[in-house]
Amino acid sequence: MRPDAPVAQVPDDLREAVSLPRTDSVYPEHGNDVVDALHYDLDLTWAPGRGRLEAIETLTFRAATDAASIPLDLSDALDVADLTLDGDSVAFTHRGNDLVLDIPVTAGDVHAVRIDYAGSPRPAKAPNDLSSFSDGVGWITDDDGSTWMLQEPFGAFTWYAVNDHPSDKALYDFTLTSGAGLTGVANGENTASRGQGQRRTTEWHLAEPASSYLVTVAFDDFQVTGQTGPSGVPIQVWAPADGPPLPGDTAVTAEAMGWVEEILGPYPFETFGIVVAGDSSVGMETQTMVTLGDTPYSLSSPVIVHELAHHWYGDSVTPSDWSEVWMNEGMATYLQAMWEAEQEGIGIEEKLDQWRDAEAAARAAAGPPGAYDPDRFVDLNVYYGPALMWQELREELGDDPFFALLRDWPESQENDISDRYEYLAWIEEQTGEELDAFFADWLLSDTTPPTE
Ligand SMILES: [Zn+2]
Repeated sequence: MRPDAPVAQVPDDLREAVSLPRTDSVYPEHGNDVVDALHYDLDLTWAPGRGRLEAIETLTFRAATDAASIPLDLSDALDVADLTLDGDSVAFTHRGNDLVLDIPVTAGDVHAVRIDYAGSPRPAKAPNDLSSFSDGVGWITDDDGSTWMLQEPFGAFTWYAVNDHPSDKALYDFTLTSGAGLTGVANGENTASRGQGQRRTTEWHLAEPASSYLVTVAFDDFQVTGQTGPSGVPIQVWAPADGPPLPGDTAVTAEAMGWVEEILGPYPFETFGIVVAGDSSVGMETQTMVTLGDTPYSLSSPVIVHELAHHWYGDSVTPSDWSEVWMNEGMATYLQAMWEAEQEGIGIEEKLDQWRDAEAAARAAAGPPGAYDPDRFVDLNVYYGPALMWQELREELGDDPFFALLRDWPESQENDISDRYEYLAWIEEQTGEELDAFFADWLLSDTTPPTE
């Protein structure tokens, strides 16, 4: 929670979800600085044959500023049938992907908006032409009526009314119902399951606040297999029922968690899971329930390690602006490189050397990792550039101070948001080194800085 925000009206059990939302510098048309979402209760019923979603959403939010109206993001593929604020009907407009409640709010006030809506969700165009984005972003429905999510940097608005920005973390509860034998899976803990014939309902509770791009819901005919992490964290793998229960390398999830914990410290959430959904080469660090495509690449151990590492870098400490996505991807990729090097029996330098040419090409094409082309979101520049940078810093500082930074930063920022100014100043303070020029070279140069 942010102590500098007015929070007197926020119930104790929602205090951890208080944020100071902001307008994005890269994708300003998504999200806003008015609504501080505290809790989303999403009651979703999915009819796979008709491709129709019926939803009752209750959003509890704090007004972060005084405002003349309440802005939310919601796709125009969904029709709002009824909308109330604190139990009273309120006028609203729903144009394009903007749902606006025509009622003023005062900073610090807490309200509950209930929205009944329905429609066939339509994914949005992703801000890149990468093959992993070929289905678009948001709610994706496959030909068989199964569904899954990919909503980085935005896309939650394609299926619920949301402040669709990483700076606004919130708590979640889901009630997911479907016919045709499909089971709904979401973030957090599966707290209830019931069914009659082909109709099934599951309930999910996410105990720590999440940004909207880290939310996932998938409907499919799933089977579930449990594991336990080395420190006792319950792990569930949800895989399509017509395939192996632990597809790809998912059997090593517990071992991979232990390996990452050795480097980054205790896993920062209460549960972990993997939902295997869709058939594209997607790996997404959706909070406590990673979304992996049903492909050999997505189900490989390097991808599992990468998405696990994001739970410290991305999910627990989250960028406050999309210009900072390098903070997520650089460290997840660095951990992935360490794992791959170990598996291949080579040194980390040799592993990273294999990526140098691709890094240079991606930087030239998509821009420097800290100031990328907005139409080239999550190109290789934000993965490989900062991973090479962390190796340079490791060589400069030595292993012990370097790995102390890796553990201490997410622990000091648990369930919070941050940006490069705070992060890099913290690193300088921890190390006593003057690193402005070093970071500027790596994050903002058009060409890769020369290395030793
Ligand atoms: Zn990643």
